[in-house]
Amino acid sequence: MNIQKDKVVALEYKLRVEGDVIDESLGEPLSYLHGHGNIVVGLENALTGMAVGEGKTVKVEPHEGYGEFDEEGMQNIPMSSFDVDLEIGQTYSGEDGEGSPISFNVLAIEGDQVLVDFNHPLAGQELEFEVKVVGIRDATSEELEHGHSHDGHHHD
Ligand SMILES: [Zn+2]
Repeated sequence: MNIQKDKVVALEYKLRVEGDVIDESLGEPLSYLHGHGNIVVGLENALTGMAVGEGKTVKVEPHEGYGEFDEEGMQNIPMSSFDVDLEIGQTYSGEDGEGSPISFNVLAIEGDQVLVDFNHPLAGQELEFEVKVVGIRDATSEELEHGHSHDGHHHD
């Protein structure tokens, strides 16, 4: 069986940015549903056709990873629009005006103005994934309906 759309794939991986490992599966493989945008598109495309036991190193440019860094993602917002005390350097998640999940990093606080960055922390970075395929199976109809794998510990 090879990786293609609608297969649930188990993957061991290490993610390096500028040579440093910033994330890895550490004995607990990542499980995702192939072809549904569960993982960054550059990695998903590179995995298509691979079989269990195969490994490779995949370099993903920002436009196929977490996006280019967007200057407009940096905004000054009045402190009074937040209902928590913000601290510089911290990352917060919440909802925007329409209830969609957002997360942002606080870059600076000056008086009542907070400079926040809505860019993904890995925006603008070249990602280097070292991957090994450890499992491939057909997705269940429920997984296809939900658009994600039901293996592992997080389900929403
Ligand atoms: Zn589900």
